[in-house]
Amino acid sequence: MNDQTKIIKLTTVKDKESGAINTPIQLSSTFQQDDFDHFGEFDYSRSGNPTRKVGENAVAQLENGQYGFLYSTGMAAISSVLETFSQGDHLIVSKFVYGGTFRVFTEVLNRFGIEHTFVDLRDLDQVTAAIQPNTKAIYIETPSNPVLAVTDIRAIVEIAKAHDLLTIADNTFMSPYLQKPLDLGVDIVVHSATKFLSGHSDILAGAAITNDPALADKIYFIQNAVGATLGVSDTWLLLRGIKTLGVRMAQSSSSALTIASWLEQQPAVTRVCYPGLKSSPDYEIQLSQAKNGGAVLSFDVGSENNARILAEAVQIPEFSVSLGGVESILSYPPKMSHAELSPAEQADCGITPGLLRFSVGIEDPADLIADLEQALAQIK
Ligand SMILES: *Cc1c(COP(=O)(O)O)cnc(C)c1O
Repeated sequence: MNDQTKIIKLTTVKDKESGAINTPIQLSSTFQQDDFDHFGEFDYSRSGNPTRKVGENAVAQLENGQYGFLYSTGMAAISSVLETFSQGDHLIVSKFVYGGTFRVFTEVLNRFGIEHTFVDLRDLDQVTAAIQPNTKAIYIETPSNPVLAVTDIRAIVEIAKAHDLLTIADNTFMSPYLQKPLDLGVDIVVHSATKFLSGHSDILAGAAITNDPALADKIYFIQNAVGATLGVSDTWLLLRGIKTLGVRMAQSSSSALTIASWLEQQPAVTRVCYPGLKSSPDYEIQLSQAKNGGAVLSFDVGSENNARILAEAVQIPEFSVSLGGVESILSYPPKMSHAELSPAEQADCGITPGLLRFSVGIEDPADLIADLEQALAQIK
C-alpha cells in the first residue's frame, strides 16, 4: 500500500462507541480495572494510553517497524534510546550529529560512563578503526545538519553486522516517507517528530521505532521507567499533522530540488548543499537509499554580512530555528543551531560564515524563488 494511503488508514482509528472517525483524546491518567485479579491493557498513562498507542502504531508502521514509542521531544526519544546502554559501553557517533545529541553524549551520558567516539561516517576505514572491544552501536544521522552530508546507511549496517554492533539512525531530515532505515538493516530509528512528522511547527515530539522484540522490550522499559512520554493532546496533534505527511513531503522536496537547481545558477551563491542535485557528490548514495534529496537545503552567500542582508530581505520564509513545517524556514546555523561550536569546529563541519539553511515549506515554489531572487539582488 502507498504510504499516503497507509497514513490515512493508520490515523483514522474510529471510536467504537460513537463511530467518530478521529481517534478520541483519552485524557485519563488512570484506567478502571474491572477484575481484582486480572487487569486490562491500560492501567496508568505513563505505561500506556489508548491515544498514544494509535500514534505509536502509526509511526511504527510508516517506518515498516513493528514497535513504536512516542516521547515528549526528539531529545527525549534519543536520550531514552541511549539509556538502554550501560556504564562501560561505547558508541561510534556521526561527527555531524544534531547539536542536542552531541550535548547528550558529551555532557550527560559521559557522566554515567557511556563512552563515544565521533567519526565522519562517510570514511568507512575510520569507522572500522574506531571499533573497540566495548563498542555496542553506531549512531547515524543522514543527511546531516546543516550541510546535508550523506552517510551510506547500507555500508554502515554491513560494518556493524560484521562486528555484532547495533545501528541507530536519526531519520528526522528525511521522514519515513522518503527514507526507511529499518528496511536498510538499521536496528532502531529515532525521530524529532517536532519536524516533518507533525509538520506544522506546533508541537514538540519524538519517536523511536524498531522491529526487534528484545530491543523493543528494552526501549519500552526505559520509556516507562524514565517517563518522557508524549502527552495525549500532543499525540492527537501529531496524528492530525502526520495525515498529510505524504503530500507535504512530495511538495516540499520537489520545491527544494527546483530551488536548489535555481540557486546553483545564481552568481551571488557560492555553494549549494542538497543531495538531490546531480552535481552533489552525495547524489548516488542518497538516491540509492531515499526517494529524493528531501526538503532541506543549505547555501552559501559568501559572507556573514551577505547572509544578514538576505535574511532581512526575504518576505516569505520565517527567519527562525527548526525545520519541517508547512512554512518555509530560513535559519543561520553559525549563530543558531551551531552557535556553540567554535569557528574552527564550524569550519571543520563545513559551516562557513555565509551559510544559510532553508527548510522548504509547501508554498508555491515560483513565489519562493521570486522572493529569493529579490533578496539576492540586495547583495551588492
Ligand atoms: C530537532 C532535532 C532533534 C531534537 O528534537 P527535539 O524535538 O527538538 O527535541 C534531533 N535530531 C534532529 C536531526 C533534529 O533536527
